[in-house]
Amino acid sequence: MTDRSAAARFDITDEQRQIAALARDFAEREIAPHIAAWDREHYFPRSLYTKMDAIGLMGVLVDERYGGVGAGYGAYALAVEELARVDAGSAVTLSVHAMIGAAIAKLGNEAQRAAWLPRLSGGDTIAGFALTESDAGSDAGAIRSTAVRRGDGYVLRGRKQWCTNGTHAGVVMAMFRTGGVGPKGVSAFLVDPKTPGITVERETEKLGIRTSNTCDLAFDDVYVGPEALLGGEGEGFGGAMTALQGGRIGIAAQAVGILAACLDASVKFAQERMAFGKPIGAFEGVSFKIARMATDLEAARLLVYRAAALADAGTPSPTLASQAKFFASTAARTHASEALQIHGGYGFTTEFPVERYYRDAKITEIYEGTSEIQQIIIARSLLGRL
Ligand SMILES: Cc1cc2nc3c(=O)[nH]c(=O)nc-3n(C[C@H](O)[C@H](O)[C@H](O)COP(=O)(O)OP(=O)(O)OC[C@H]3O[C@@H](n4cnc5c(N)ncnc54)[C@H](O)[C@@H]3O)c2cc1C
Repeated sequence: MTDRSAAARFDITDEQRQIAALARDFAEREIAPHIAAWDREHYFPRSLYTKMDAIGLMGVLVDERYGGVGAGYGAYALAVEELARVDAGSAVTLSVHAMIGAAIAKLGNEAQRAAWLPRLSGGDTIAGFALTESDAGSDAGAIRSTAVRRGDGYVLRGRKQWCTNGTHAGVVMAMFRTGGVGPKGVSAFLVDPKTPGITVERETEKLGIRTSNTCDLAFDDVYVGPEALLGGEGEGFGGAMTALQGGRIGIAAQAVGILAACLDASVKFAQERMAFGKPIGAFEGVSFKIARMATDLEAARLLVYRAAALADAGTPSPTLASQAKFFASTAARTHASEALQIHGGYGFTTEFPVERYYRDAKITEIYEGTSEIQQIIIARSLLGRL
């Protein structure tokens, strides 16, 4: 288990360091040789996640009682960062999967924990998250999909958009309306997408994170038993927001990983590329870009580690999770553009990976709450609801 007192001071523990090293080695060995082709082909590398289980990553947030590693958010953030340094797509697959495991542990009853957590930490079952609908993204409390009681269970109807991991998931945490309008009428359900009546309707082709699966799920009169309800009726919106607090640490860590990759590539290129008889890194126009990139990387990392340490200490801060995501994603998008600029024309080609970092960075400002929504959360924590 995590040394909570050390985590609370956001020192990196030995266990966290080991998990980061395992994730880095895994990414270099299993992903790096294939990533250019997988990105080009929009390929979801399903077998990676079975292999990831062997080094404990799939159960990084799951308690040891349920077959996980129970290493906490610090280790989760480090693992996601290391994966994102090589492939931001597989980093978000793990991030969302782990976020759902944590939500089940926190919001579920003992039967739900016993049913799902060993499967999630075992790598054979990937988890997905289905909140967004075509007319309800940032305004998630406006979802229209319904869960209507039938006998002891419920009948689910509606369509969920852009469900990460959806096609390959063995369980999806999906939000449906059981009551009146607004967030208080929303309940969360744990659903196996292979249940009769659920169809994968569209696999979305994307600008970036192309090794990540994103699909729409249609629910046509899907009967689920009472054991599918996660938390109480009407508690689903709060449950989704709780899950997203942890998830935002993951997306912030994903942005840090992309930023770290941009820095590595930029330093190497600036030392090697010659212009006007010198390495381009000798020009302040280039070296100052790298100095700012490195400084924002360190600042983003500290925000992520601090948000993770507070979560591990049992005092999670939604504001800090939003600040970490807002800062890290802005920095990743900004510096991915600068990294491409440092590479000149080569950066615009697929011969160098920076064009992929540039495409991958953008999504970190959009999903799990856009940068505008993060700023609303941060501002409200200071100003209240005016
Ligand atoms: C690749 C990908 C994967 C995703 N994965 C998942 C997933 O696994 N599960 C899931 O449920 N969803 C997922 N999503 C959905 C994602 O979370 C939403 O796209 C996101 O929350 C924004 O919602 P929207 O796209 O409807 O934009 P909108 O909410 O329509 O926003 C459009 C613009 O308006 C701005 N805006 C909206 N409201 C305000 C406001 N009050 N103040 C200021 N600006 C505002 C937004 O910031 C944005 O710039 C995914 C999306 C993508 C693209």
